[in-house]
Amino acid sequence: MRTRILRIDADKPQKEKIAQAATAIRKGKVVVFPTETVYGIGANALDARACREIFRVKGREGDNPLIVHVSDMEMACGIGRIDGRNRKILARVWPAPLTVVVKSTGKVPRSVTGGLDTIAIRMPDNKVALELIGKAGVPIAAPSANPSKMPSSTAFRHALRYFKGKVDVIIGSKDSRLGLESTVLDLRTFAILRPGVFTKRDIETAFGRKARVDAVTKGEKGVTKAISPGTKYRHYAPSTPLFMYTGRKSALTGILSGIRTRYAFIGTDEACSMLPIGKGRKIQLGRRRDMGDIARNLFDALIRVDSIGADFAVVESFSDSGIGLAIMNRLRKASSHSGFSDAKGLLILLKRYGIGAHEDNKVQSSH
Ligand code: AMP
Ligand code: MG
Repeated sequence: MRTRILRIDADKPQKEKIAQAATAIRKGKVVVFPTETVYGIGANALDARACREIFRVKGREGDNPLIVHVSDMEMACGIGRIDGRNRKILARVWPAPLTVVVKSTGKVPRSVTGGLDTIAIRMPDNKVALELIGKAGVPIAAPSANPSKMPSSTAFRHALRYFKGKVDVIIGSKDSRLGLESTVLDLRTFAILRPGVFTKRDIETAFGRKARVDAVTKGEKGVTKAISPGTKYRHYAPSTPLFMYTGRKSALTGILSGIRTRYAFIGTDEACSMLPIGKGRKIQLGRRRDMGDIARNLFDALIRVDSIGADFAVVESFSDSGIGLAIMNRLRKASSHSGFSDAKGLLILLKRYGIGAHEDNKVQSSH
């Protein structure tokens, strides 16, 4: 398939290019476009056939519902039952990296919402996205622009690499400002189904009520609740086996200095500066105190790690508070819940994954 590439200015979107992309949407085509969270792969949400193509191109399971993007409150209320109080609050909060799950009005086909009678709706805080939806005049169903299970695209170059030749249109614009997918909030139970940069505290401030955080929110192992089907799948994972280090920061140098195979380390600038070079390659995420930077750089790091040709990668862990909850949710899944806190733990993982000549890895004991 020939993919049309449209480069669109993030601050002053060119009207004629927006019109071309909007026409493609109206004709039932698939369009990759930027949002403030990650790039999305979108189609007319009212067109079941067009949306089926999203599932096909991504290789996404049919029970994993798509988030539907709107450009105004009227469009949102046409597809989801949002009560008066929440309508007022959302009118203030949106556009924002916050998706809400409500009862569907039935206007969006069931196949788009994974067979559920609920629908996830969001108004993205990105001019190109808002103008595209507005001009198309229909809600746009758009999951993250990545083949299923792989890290999401946060830049035009990622989207190109994944989908050139596979979709009708790719819009190239600025890198995503936030870098992690939206927070998903179930407005019926007030549970956070997926954490994002819009934090628990942001939700509680905006809605004036306590939000629920549980194992689903954290992305913990074995969570298969049908309440948010997407949360049960392995996700965000590079091809390189990724292990999360949960031990003391100061002990990591000792643990990794015995490794004889090629590895990569993904972590904060502070952790990277402490580590020996040796067989390792470092990918810096930003300074530890700027969690927004770490969130923004995370998927790019997970995509880059596969170009290093390492046998495995180690990623630093973070606290589950604020944006850290969203970062850890992605990392738990990206690492398939394979974590270690000492040398013995790492050796067990290397053996389990059959990595390198693990007998050669004279990993030092950490005590
Ligand atoms: P993505 O589109 O790739 O950002 O993933 C969408 C996320 O939103 C997945 O985790 C879905 O399970 C979740 N989601 C979408 N629609 C619903 C819904 N109706 N109910 C619960 N979760 C939803
Ligand atoms: Mg996704």
